[in-house]
Amino acid sequence: LPNVFLAAMPVLKTLEAGGFEAYFVGGSVRDVLLGRHIHDVDIATSAYPEEVKELFEKSIDTGIKHGTVTVLYQGESYEITTFRTESGYQDFRRPDHVTFVQNLDEDLKRRDFTINALAMNTDGEIIDLFVGLADLKHKLIKAVGDPEQRFHEDALRMMRAVRFMSQLKFSLEEKTEQAIADHHQLLKKISVERIRDEFVKMGLGADARAAFQIFLDTQLSEEVPDFAGKKEQLAVFPKLQFSPTMETSLWSIIIILLGMQDNQIGKFMRDWKNSNAMTEEVERIVNFFDIMSSHTPTDYELFEVGKKTLLNTIDVAHILGQPVDSNALVDRYLALPIKNNSELAIDGRFLIKKGIKPGPQLGELLTKIKKAVINGDLDNTEEAIAEFLEKQ
Ligand code: ATP
Ligand code: MG
Repeated sequence: LPNVFLAAMPVLKTLEAGGFEAYFVGGSVRDVLLGRHIHDVDIATSAYPEEVKELFEKSIDTGIKHGTVTVLYQGESYEITTFRTESGYQDFRRPDHVTFVQNLDEDLKRRDFTINALAMNTDGEIIDLFVGLADLKHKLIKAVGDPEQRFHEDALRMMRAVRFMSQLKFSLEEKTEQAIADHHQLLKKISVERIRDEFVKMGLGADARAAFQIFLDTQLSEEVPDFAGKKEQLAVFPKLQFSPTMETSLWSIIIILLGMQDNQIGKFMRDWKNSNAMTEEVERIVNFFDIMSSHTPTDYELFEVGKKTLLNTIDVAHILGQPVDSNALVDRYLALPIKNNSELAIDGRFLIKKGIKPGPQLGELLTKIKKAVINGDLDNTEEAIAEFLEKQ
C-alpha cells in the first residue's frame, strides 16, 4: 500500500473500533491501482456525520448536509462521507436530497463510473461490485448501471466522462458514449462553472486531444458557451502538435482556433466565467501571438509584453505548430537594457527638473526616451539622457 493509504489507515481503524464500517473509496482507490499520484483520500463510512465527529478530535463540517465531515489527523485532512444514495434529480443536476444508508453497496451504486466505484477495506482488499477492476485493466470509462438514466440524473457526468478519458488516457465504453451522443442537450442544465472545471481538466489531461475529439463527436461541444456551430474550427484541436499543459495556453489556443477578434475575447472568457486575471493574460497572449505571426517582434514589443507572457505565447505557438525561434526571442528579451519602467535611469520628476512642463507631452517624451534606451540608441544613464534632451 502507498504511504498515503498507510497514513490514513488509523482513521479507518478508528471508525471500525467505534463499531462502524469504513472504506477507502472513489478516485484514490482508482489512482492507487493505476499507480498514479493520489492527491486526496476519500473515506466512506456507515457512521453518521455526528458520530464521525465524536470519534476524532479535530473535524470541520465541510458538507454536513451531504454527509461529509473533514477530519484532521496527524497533519493530514480526510473527507469522510456517510454511505448515501441520492434521490430526486428533478432538474438533471445535483440531487434534491441525499438519503443515508447502512451499506456500502448502495453507496457505490450512486457513483458515476465503474472505475470510480471501487472500495478498499482495512485489509487492503478491493470491493468491486461493477467490474471496475476489469474496466481499469481494459482502460474503459463505463457508467455504473444504465448510462442514459445516470446522465439524466446528473448531466455533469457526461463532461466527467471525457475528462477522465483525457486524464487517464482511457477509452469511452460504447453504450456510455452513445448515451452521451443521444443526450448531450442535458448539459444545458448544468452551471457553466461546473462545466468549465471539467472542460479544463479535460483540456489539460494527458490525452486531451483524443478526449476533445469525443467531446466534438458526441456534440457535447454544442452545449458549452460559444462553441455551438464551431465544430470545423475546433476540429483542429485534436490535431495539434502537443496537448496544452497550462490553462492560459488552453484558452488562448481555443480563441485562436475560433479566429476571434481582440474585442471578442473578453466576452468569450466571461461567458466561460473565467477570472479577470486569466482573461487579461489570455488577451495579452493572443495579442502577442498576432504580433509574432505578422513580424519579428521589435525590442520594444518584447519589453512591453514581458517575460511571463512571452514564454506563455511561445508555448502556445509551439502547441499550434507555428515555427518560432524561441531561443532567439528569449535571448533578445534577456539582453534588453531594461526589463521594466522602474529600471529606467530617469522618471517624470527628472524631466520636470529639466524644465519640461507636466502634461501629455511629458508622457510622450518619456516614452520616446524609454524606446531609445530599449532600442539601444541611448544609454540608460542620467547624463546620456540629459544630453539627449538638449538635442530635442
Ligand atoms: P479527482 O482525481 O479529480 O479528484 P475523483 O474520482 O476523486 O477524481 P471527485 O470529483 O473528487 O473525483 O469525486 C470523488 C468520487 O465521488 C468519484 O470517484 C465518484 O465515485 C464520486 N462522484 C463524484 N462526482 C460524481 C457525480 N457527478 N456522479 C456520481 N458520482 C460522483
Ligand atoms: Mg477526488
